[in-house]
Amino acid sequence: DQSAVVAPSDPSVKVVVRIRPASWRERGQDRTVRKVSVNSLSVGERSFGFDSVVDTSSTQEDIFQLVGVPLVKNSLAGFNTSILAYGQTGSGKTYTMWGPPSAMLEGHSASSNQGIVPRIFHMLFEEFDREQQNSDGKQINFQCRCSFLEIYNGQIGDLLDPTQRNLQIKDDTKNVLFVENLTEEYVNSYDDVTQVLVKALSNRKVGATSVNSKSSRSHIIFNFVVESWCEGNSSKSISRSKISRISLIDLAGSDRNKLDDANRQCAKESKSVKKSLSQLGHLVRILGENKRSRGPKDTPYQSSCLTHLLQESLGGNAKLSVICAISPVEKCLSETLSTLRFGLRVK
Ligand code: ADP
Ligand code: MG
Repeated sequence: DQSAVVAPSDPSVKVVVRIRPASWRERGQDRTVRKVSVNSLSVGERSFGFDSVVDTSSTQEDIFQLVGVPLVKNSLAGFNTSILAYGQTGSGKTYTMWGPPSAMLEGHSASSNQGIVPRIFHMLFEEFDREQQNSDGKQINFQCRCSFLEIYNGQIGDLLDPTQRNLQIKDDTKNVLFVENLTEEYVNSYDDVTQVLVKALSNRKVGATSVNSKSSRSHIIFNFVVESWCEGNSSKSISRSKISRISLIDLAGSDRNKLDDANRQCAKESKSVKKSLSQLGHLVRILGENKRSRGPKDTPYQSSCLTHLLQESLGGNAKLSVICAISPVEKCLSETLSTLRFGLRVK
């Protein structure tokens, strides 16, 4: 009996499933996936439980309230936070994370189809203003910087400077990982951030979304670092500064059987994506187990470029939300089940 697999809730890792609406091409096809309750869905006869399930009727604002608002609060409380979007090509990962670039440039409005990421930064900069105003005469300073990279075929590229390919991961003197020569931009406002995002995303986008396009075979990671410090009556002390990171990750399509083997380059890329996604699943699972039990296992960060880069954001007492993006129709059934299994596995 495979019904009602309900994952225990764990605040350090949260899994949200989003069922996208059928596209015009899929209209009239059988729908096999249905939301059953706020935290469960059915696929045919089977039921699956997650932290939250949102249906085809959900808005970008709904998913922001579910995933984005807690992220901003955790980030202000000093936690490192991340969102991972996982799913097959065309399941809505990019739409959910960033939304259309035009919506980002139009400025903020709750009703637009802006993705979670611009909404997060709109709220974050509002919160900075609020904290500065309510600081009882102390001066609170925030300094924010960001970078945007792509992992394509196991190599790191700089989306803010596409001439930079094959960048290397290095360790600084304090054992903090960094990507050598990766462009970092300082940002002071929501508008600064959206400009960086639009520029970087246009550097990723090569052709339309199709199973064979580059965007379906690269992972992209937007990294945002907030450093804040207080200046009280005594002089500014750097040792009192707080640093928190936000990592927003739009993964390559998890499609298992998508490429024809006649194309060797594609086959190689597809293998690299599959391997890094399965290593990521394994890593996140071990992190979850370590947080629950006493005897920590070794965490295999170095198994791939992707997991290595996420070491800073996922380790320690970081907060992670995984968004599993799925299609509602029968034709995508096997990929949908594979995505849901990933979601259950990381809990
Ligand atoms: P992925 O990044 O997973 O390959 P996309 O985000 O590019 O998929 O989505 C594929 C298509 O479906 C795009 O045209 C996108 O605009 C549309 N889409 C995805 N999710 C939704 C949604 N929740 N509501 C409306 N359109 C959506
Ligand atoms: Mg995409």
